[in-house]
Amino acid sequence: MPQSMTNKERAAQLRVLIGDIKQNQQDFNAATRSFGAGIHDLLCTLEAQASADDQYRRPNSIWYNDGSVILVAQGTGFKVHQSVLSQHSTVFLDLIETASLRWSSLGTLVVMVSDYVDDLSIFLKVLYNPGNDSYFKMPNTPAPIEWVSALIKLGKKYQVKFIFDEAVSRLKSVHPRTYAEYKLMRGAMSNHISDYPNGEMAITIINLARAHNLPNLLPFAFYLCCQLPLETIMHGVKRNDGTAEKLSSDDIMRCLKGREQLTLMNASLVQTLRSYMPSMNKCNAHKCDSRWVSVVCGDSPLSPKLMGYNFRDWEIGFCKRCKKAYRRIVEDAREKTFPMFSDIFELN
Ligand SMILES: [Zn+2]
Repeated sequence: MPQSMTNKERAAQLRVLIGDIKQNQQDFNAATRSFGAGIHDLLCTLEAQASADDQYRRPNSIWYNDGSVILVAQGTGFKVHQSVLSQHSTVFLDLIETASLRWSSLGTLVVMVSDYVDDLSIFLKVLYNPGNDSYFKMPNTPAPIEWVSALIKLGKKYQVKFIFDEAVSRLKSVHPRTYAEYKLMRGAMSNHISDYPNGEMAITIINLARAHNLPNLLPFAFYLCCQLPLETIMHGVKRNDGTAEKLSSDDIMRCLKGREQLTLMNASLVQTLRSYMPSMNKCNAHKCDSRWVSVVCGDSPLSPKLMGYNFRDWEIGFCKRCKKAYRRIVEDAREKTFPMFSDIFELN
């Protein structure tokens, strides 16, 4: 402040200065209030948007917070990355670019798909972990049939070749095409697919083979399927989601006709076994009498089961000579029957 100013002038100038400061303070307070309100609004919007995304979220569903797309199957969302889907599948790329889509309010793309929720969950787990240490790729880790089925269906639909091929190779590894292959695979089948061989699973496998042009799986799958009770052959089995997995009416007919034919063949095998009972087999071991009787009079004569899974169960209690005779007769019948499965089930 210049020295020449009077006290009065100085006081006037100070009053102006104080007025300016007060005004600035009011402006600042107003701006702060406005900024605070802005932040508050933004937080409310984000919260609302987040709950809009969460409407699709379910416990245990795959949900990456930094994902950019929500795939919704049967009302359940999977928040994943467009880049990962597009990298493996041009079908996903097209779907993302062209299908009827909508954006959730948070800006995440939402894509409705027609897949079963369990199938999509399995498929995405494998898609996100494709390396050799992936659970599904470990050769001696049994895979549940639900996994194999989901990966074949969605691997084909979304054209992810490595997933489709891996799942098909699992199925092939438990479906021998010759009796020699059968003998090699027997015992190791359940190392590839949990609890296999199993007639109920065979219904699923026949339907997969039909839908995806895998005819080599059919003969053995039909053989397993025809071991099932009539009611199961006719009405199918229940899937995890409560729907039924059923054979087509043509395949039911194939199964029933094959079942009848194999039952007759098994009756004939039993007749052959009967003719080799101890008196014919020059066996004097008393224990063998009752064992042969149980083999030829057990439940086997009237079943279509020519390929019992385990010789050892049947052989218990026989002497060495009878064991050898029994094995040779049964092996002969199996060797002749196995190549006939395609004809027996009218698959050619
Ligand atoms: Zn004997």
